[in-house]
Formats: sequence, C-alpha cells, structure tokens
Amino acid sequence: MGTDVLIVGGGVIGLSIARELSKRGVRRMMVIDKGRIGGEASWAAAGMLAANAETRIDDPFFRMCVESNKLYPQFAAELLEETGIDIELDTGGTLCLAFTEREEADLAEKFAWQTGAGIRVQTLEAGEIREREPAVSSAARYALRYEDDHQVENRKLVAALRKYCEIEGVELVEGVQITGLLIEKGVLLGAASRDVRYTASKTVIAAGAWTTELARTMPSVGTVKPIRGQMISFAPPERFLHSVVYTSEGYLVPRTDGRILAGATVEDAGFDKCVTADAISQLKAMAVRTVPRLGGVDVGNAWCGLRPLAEGGYPVIGWASEIRNAYIATGHYRNGILLAPLTGRIAALEILDGSRSAEYQYFAPRDAAMTGNAAAAQSNKP
Ligand SMILES: Cc1cc2nc3c(=O)[nH]c(=O)nc-3n(C[C@H](O)[C@H](O)[C@H](O)COP(=O)(O)OP(=O)(O)OC[C@H]3O[C@@H](n4cnc5c(N)ncnc54)[C@H](O)[C@@H]3O)c2cc1C
Repeated sequence: MGTDVLIVGGGVIGLSIARELSKRGVRRMMVIDKGRIGGEASWAAAGMLAANAETRIDDPFFRMCVESNKLYPQFAAELLEETGIDIELDTGGTLCLAFTEREEADLAEKFAWQTGAGIRVQTLEAGEIREREPAVSSAARYALRYEDDHQVENRKLVAALRKYCEIEGVELVEGVQITGLLIEKGVLLGAASRDVRYTASKTVIAAGAWTTELARTMPSVGTVKPIRGQMISFAPPERFLHSVVYTSEGYLVPRTDGRILAGATVEDAGFDKCVTADAISQLKAMAVRTVPRLGGVDVGNAWCGLRPLAEGGYPVIGWASEIRNAYIATGHYRNGILLAPLTGRIAALEILDGSRSAEYQYFAPRDAAMTGNAAAAQSNKP
C-alpha cells in the first residue's frame, strides 16, 4: 500500500501535522493508529493551555508554548468553520492559589520574575479571589491570575481534527499496530504492520509514549518514556467554577458542560494504564480542599493516560539524523494539547520545503537528546 506521507500515531500531534500538510496541498496521506484515533494521551488530557502559569525561565520552550497559545483562537475558529465542531476554547483564565505563607511567598517570587519577563499576571488578595470565584475555599489567601492561559475540550479537539482529515480525504486506519520500519540503505521507505507494508515518500513518527519502540534505530531521537496521569471528574448540578484553578497539589478544570475535572497524578508506571483507588481519593481530597462544595458531589468518572516524556524533557520535532525521510514529532509530555497547532506548522513547513526557524532548531532530534535539564523546567506543567 503506498502514499505520499504516512503518519504513525493518530493523537493530537499526528492529526495536527496531517491537517497542516493537507492545507499545504498534500493529497495522498495516511494516519495509522494501533487503537482508536485520538484515544490515548490526547483523549485523557485536561486541555489546559498553560503557556504562562508555571513558567520560571525564559527559554525556547517557554517561547514555543506562548507562540502556540497565540495560535489557538484562530485554530479554534478555523476548525469550527471546517468541521462544525466547537473545541470550546474557554478564555476564563487561570488562577494559581496559595493556602499557606510559604506558598504565598513562592507565588510572590514567581510574580516578580514573571512580570519582569513580560508575562501578563495579576495578584489577587483573599477577598478578590472570593469575588472572582466564590466557590473557592476561604483558606485561599493569595493568588496569581493569568488571563492568557485558557483551556479547550481536548476530546472535541481530537474529534475536530479527525473530521477535518475525513473531509479532506486523509486515510485513517485504526486498530493497526505498526511493528517495524522499512529501512533500505539508510532511507525510510515506510512502515509495516504484522500483515501489511505501507510504503511512503515520507514517514512521520508521532507515536507519543510508544515512540521508542519504533525509533530504536535512531539514537538521535533518544528514549521517550510513558508518564501516567490519572484524573477524575465531577458533574455538579450547577456551574460554580469559572477559571482553571491550580494549587500546589493539583488542578481543577471547569468544562462548559458543567463538569469539573481534577488532575493529575505524575507516575512512572511503565505502560500500565490502571486507575487506582489511592489516586482517586487523593484527587478527590485535593478537589474538596480547593472547592469545598465538591465534597457533596460524587466522582463521576476516573481515567488515565500516558504522557510522552522525551529523554531531554523537551519535545523532539524534526528529521531523524540517521535515516532519511523519517520525521519525528513526539515528547510533548504535559503540553501536547497546547503545542499541537504550532507543532503541526513546524512539521508541515519542514517536511514540505525544508524550512525551519532557528528558534525551533532547539527541538531537532539531535539537539533534543543532548539538552539535559529541561525536565526540571517542565516539572510543574500540567
Ligand atoms: C492526565 C493528563 C493530563 C494532561 N493535561 C494536559 C493539558 O492540560 N494540556 C496539555 O497541553 N497537555 C496535557 N497533557 C499532555 C498531552 O495529552 C500529550 O502531550 C499529548 O496528548 C501527546 O499527543 P501525542 O499525539 O504525541 O500522543 P498520543 O495522544 O498518545 O497519540 C499517540 C498515538 O500513537 C499511537 N501509536 C503508538 N504506537 C503506535 C504503533 N506502533 N502503531 C500505530 N499507532 C501507534 C497511539 O495509539 C496513540 O493514539 C496531559 C496528559 C495526561 C495523560
């Protein structure tokens, strides 16, 4: 079976790349997923576009997050027009709460650095927190508010990207696991499942937490490991939270349909996708401490997903250096929803005409495997 561009992995990253390539005229394209398109981390996520709230260093990763965040209003509007699906870009903003003196001092320090770096952030005293969010616990004594950090309904985002691909004739193959790459004399000719060989002029590997299995022959990619995140949701009878709310123990995300998501654990548990009773009770306790009214609401659902964490901590986006025609887009860890529109653009431009801005060179496979300390920089991200 042959195509121009084969994309292995139908998460938000693979689908965004497919959309951008399609917009730039690529007609024969195939996206293959071992399960349901968009059914892994991209489905499990909280959908926060946390470009600013947790940033403490002005580095290429931060600038990439900010740039992708800025693309969202247009991205959401275009997807609505193209597919009829509203991805529910919610511009209610984000609050970071302090409950103790120490947390307050920490936020105050962050505020000083962030205002110096040009981030739009505002301080709120206890009374102002309650005015803005009456349901938040009266124990919250101080907060930072980020009016530029929004959220989307990531499941609708995936549905919209999928529909876009269907409308534009991108072939979507579900339930087929790619088990190997077709490499001949240093050139990638496509990929194969147990039964079928898929040949392609160019192959994109966007396999999220499962990338290492496929990219073994490409040391420049480094390893990508799964980091489990468990989440729960509540369906209160009325809407009583409007902003995304962070605390030092977790976050709450109010959806437009009234649900409140609470997340998330960060666990090195291999590919185990169990939801545990411990995590559910910890997340529930965090949610009730933050918004006491949630104490009277049952946990509706609990789920988990595997975030793709690359060796250097940063996303890895670019041509593999060992094999020709192998494009890598993975390692988006806690920020794949935020970074999807920009990753799609970077990849499409580079795949089609080789152009890449110097700023993104930082994330090229060879460089990414060498940048060692970025995991720490990202460690507080969603
Ligand atoms: C609990 C949780 C909360 C999160 N919250 C946020 C948030 O608020 N904001 C944010 O920006 N990000 C968030 N993230 C991170 C975000 O979800 C990920 O960074 C993003 O979804 C990664 O997208 P992806 O397409 O690379 O991976 P995935 O969505 O996992 O997609 C990869 C796809 O590749 C397929 N695949 C893998 N191997 C093969 C193979 N061999 N053959 C065929 N198909 C294959 C898989 O089936 C999968 O569908 C969160 C993640 C979790 C788990």
